[in-house]
Amino acid sequence: MAGPSIASRTHEIQIREARTEESWTAQVAASLFSVLFPSDCRICGTPLVKISRLPVCQECVDAMHAIGGGVCSICGERLFSSYAVAGAAGEPRCGLCRRIEPPFARAAAYGSYESGLRELIHLLKYGGVRPAANVLGRMLAEAIATLEPELPADSVSLIPVPLHRTKLRQRGFNQAELIARAAMKIRPRGDRLHLCAGVLERRRDTASQIGLTSHQRRENLRGAFRVAQPELVKGREVLVVDDVYTTGATVSECSKVLLRAGATKVWVTTVARTLKISAQHAEIGPEAEDNLAKAVGT
Ligand SMILES: [Zn+2]
Ligand SMILES: [Zn+2]
Repeated sequence: MAGPSIASRTHEIQIREARTEESWTAQVAASLFSVLFPSDCRICGTPLVKISRLPVCQECVDAMHAIGGGVCSICGERLFSSYAVAGAAGEPRCGLCRRIEPPFARAAAYGSYESGLRELIHLLKYGGVRPAANVLGRMLAEAIATLEPELPADSVSLIPVPLHRTKLRQRGFNQAELIARAAMKIRPRGDRLHLCAGVLERRRDTASQIGLTSHQRRENLRGAFRVAQPELVKGREVLVVDDVYTTGATVSECSKVLLRAGATKVWVTTVARTLKISAQHAEIGPEAEDNLAKAVGT
């Protein structure tokens, strides 16, 4: 019985060679990758197997869930059934929002400011890992989507909470702006959102908030912001964007100056929010962050 023809045998060899070459290329790429980027996941420490600009594994990203359960209809604080008392319009409100109406209409956050999400935000802010902004932007887009039914139909100005120019120079970027940009890119109706990065200006570097109570922090922030482009605010609803909502002092101060400049309504979205269950972390949060910032020289 005749064997396979020379032609078919040559073809077979070619396929085998191609396969060998393919796996060889993959091996070289993998080893080159491990030499160039000998990184483990910066959150859980697992060696990274896929080439990615973000040094965080998929499992860690997947574990960053959206806030579930009942939250305050104004500030997004977690509600436990015993505290869930309806406001005038019948929506649940936390104790704080029942006592003092915040200057913003509503603040929506994607996830709880703890574990992985907290570390991812720190990677961006203090580690300078810019690709983290893309993942955070995806989360911000989800938070914006929850506000969607209430936002004006035509266009919404996205106003990132600004950094003081000294801090901006040190860090090289404003994380709130990077996250806002990333969110706009992935939103299907991103054209409705307009980034207005220069609208707000931070006049004072408020890094000296270490050790202050939330009341003192509010006092300390007074006069820290100014509307540099009032023409983009007057008579419009605006959406303030920040990475984290801790006590709400920062976004409240921004909201006040925007309203004073003629904004008709201020909405707030953040990637993360401190929640009641992590109250201890919330208490030490800003101070710990400032110390961390000092430690890494930002
Ligand atoms: Zn991981
Ligand atoms: Zn509330």
